[in-house]
Amino acid sequence: MSTEKGTISIHTENIFPVIKKFLYSDNEIFLRELVSNAVDASQKIKRLSSLGQYNGEVGDLTVDVKFDEEAKTITISDNGIGMTAEEIKKYINQIAFSGATEFVEKFKEAKDANEIIGRFGLGFYSAFMVADKVEIESLSYQDGATPAHWTCDGSTSYEISEGSRTTRGTDIILHINADSTEFLNKARLQDILHKYAQFLPVPIRFGTKTTSEPDGEDEEGKPKYKSVEVDNIINNMSPAWTKAPSELKDEDYLAFYRELYPYAMDEPLFWIHLNVDYPFNLTGILYFPKIKNELEIQRNKIKLYSRQVFITDEVKDIVPEFLMLLHGVIDSPDIPLNVSRSFLQADSNVKKINSYITKKVADKLQEIFKSDRKGFEEKWNDIGLFIKYGMLSDEKFAEKANEFCLVKNTENESYTLKEYYEKVKDIQVDKDGNIVYLYSSDPAQQDGYIAAAKGKGYDVLILDGPLDSHFTGYLEQKGGEKVQLKRVDSDVIDKLIQKDEKIELTLTEEESKKVSELFQKAIDRTDMNVQIEALHEDELPVSVTLDEFMRRMKDMAKTGGGMGFYGTLPDNYKVSVNGNHPLVKRILASENGEGEKLAKQAFDLALLSRGLLTGSDLTSFIKRSVEMI
Ligand code: ADP
Ligand code: MG
Repeated sequence: MSTEKGTISIHTENIFPVIKKFLYSDNEIFLRELVSNAVDASQKIKRLSSLGQYNGEVGDLTVDVKFDEEAKTITISDNGIGMTAEEIKKYINQIAFSGATEFVEKFKEAKDANEIIGRFGLGFYSAFMVADKVEIESLSYQDGATPAHWTCDGSTSYEISEGSRTTRGTDIILHINADSTEFLNKARLQDILHKYAQFLPVPIRFGTKTTSEPDGEDEEGKPKYKSVEVDNIINNMSPAWTKAPSELKDEDYLAFYRELYPYAMDEPLFWIHLNVDYPFNLTGILYFPKIKNELEIQRNKIKLYSRQVFITDEVKDIVPEFLMLLHGVIDSPDIPLNVSRSFLQADSNVKKINSYITKKVADKLQEIFKSDRKGFEEKWNDIGLFIKYGMLSDEKFAEKANEFCLVKNTENESYTLKEYYEKVKDIQVDKDGNIVYLYSSDPAQQDGYIAAAKGKGYDVLILDGPLDSHFTGYLEQKGGEKVQLKRVDSDVIDKLIQKDEKIELTLTEEESKKVSELFQKAIDRTDMNVQIEALHEDELPVSVTLDEFMRRMKDMAKTGGGMGFYGTLPDNYKVSVNGNHPLVKRILASENGEGEKLAKQAFDLALLSRGLLTGSDLTSFIKRSVEMI
């Protein structure tokens, strides 16, 4: 075959420098593209062989990645189907630039390298991001094929001539440009290969590594070892997600988790093996990590693969928002991986995948709940956050999760929403028929209020998680008919669940006014409003409460509920004085400022039980108390 020269048909004279520059930011993907081409070529020969269209030996299909620091080359070699000169012209020259005009038009809007490669089938050309000359040596599998050699120096002209390869397959030789010498480095290449090729289905060899082997015995009869060089296959060809769930034991899932996250401190709580082939193709394993505190929450831990080629760990549009905290892998050839974000969002496959994952996760949680309720309750502290987040953000998920979402009370008993409704609906019902759920956001601090509620035979939930200020609202809307949530310290207990019985105030109007003024004076604070109430005589004389509605608005503002206005308001406490308490009678009867002192003391006690008595107020309270005893 004689040397033939040709010109890549393209309108713009020199497009490579443009691509090179444009794609510069993530130029490491050249290796992903070339190695996946090598893998494709290897799998094609296997397929041809199994279809009986290739009768030769398939042989060893290991893909080799080598580099030569001195010659400044990186070579990717495969034993795949190879290409004839005609095929090189067709696949390498023509295809990529068949839409050259369109390309020139569109590359301007493209946002990243993936997009260019995906939209224009430029995988191979990504080599020019790091090389100023690329050579192909290839021998096709076809009977009587002659080896071909192609070379292109990054301009629009190429040369094709007879090549020197003697075995089936292809070498891609990159002559690394001056700006990209960072890639002529073992550690760097190893990193890139690990990232993109860790789970490719064909063996990928990169250099050699040394291990020790037994080497007889020394004079004392102890075994000796020698260090030997062995091939360094860098990938696991059949990662767990590509296997059938029935083939895998718990250990296998845990081992795969460690393979994915060698630095993870904890084992995952459980996992979901995704496996669907209609209406789209998707496999994967999602792990529920143990989350110890909010600071540890890490997004972007799910890795996205396409036919075992790593694509990205930014899965924002493919995985529902509330599941972004999960770990693991998703593999789908149907996700348009090489395109931009905005395109992904609009893609209908992506939407289907999204709702499929949501459904799968809900089903799995339900299954665990049904088959092992106790285990589920134990895991609740770790998974409750995901589930609540899911319920708040995804209606479809909420529908299912309503059945297994748990609430816990101060006795550490767990109930489903339905069970809890049944538990309290006859006891914690107020005169208007509202079912009042009492809850505590901080059982240690609100202990006095909890005790008061329990004294009435009421139950108190613990809602102390980061999402619970929103979740209370959810429970009121979806947790059962006429459900209201009130924090135990938001009013005195008889007001929290107001029954029909009428308690008479034993004070006259004049006495009431006097007590109120006396307290207001003793308290001497503008953020506290005194209110005289008709409560049972054996209730506390004074309690300090914070209105449920106002507090909730402020909580929501804090956690980003958008109620900016409420966030700026000061806390406004109510000081409930039990007008029927004997102490009030005593205060009324006392003289010489004694009443004011008693009022102050009772008020301070109320503050103390709320953890609100601090600093100099606490010091003078103690001093006053000592004087009194
Ligand atoms: P894509 O892989 O998306 O088709 P590429 O630009 O990466 O686009 O490759 C273009 C074509 O060149 C491939 O479809 C394949 O036919 C051919 N090709 C590239 N690399 C090899 C290889 N190592 N062995 C055989 N054919 C190859
Ligand atoms: Mg390709």
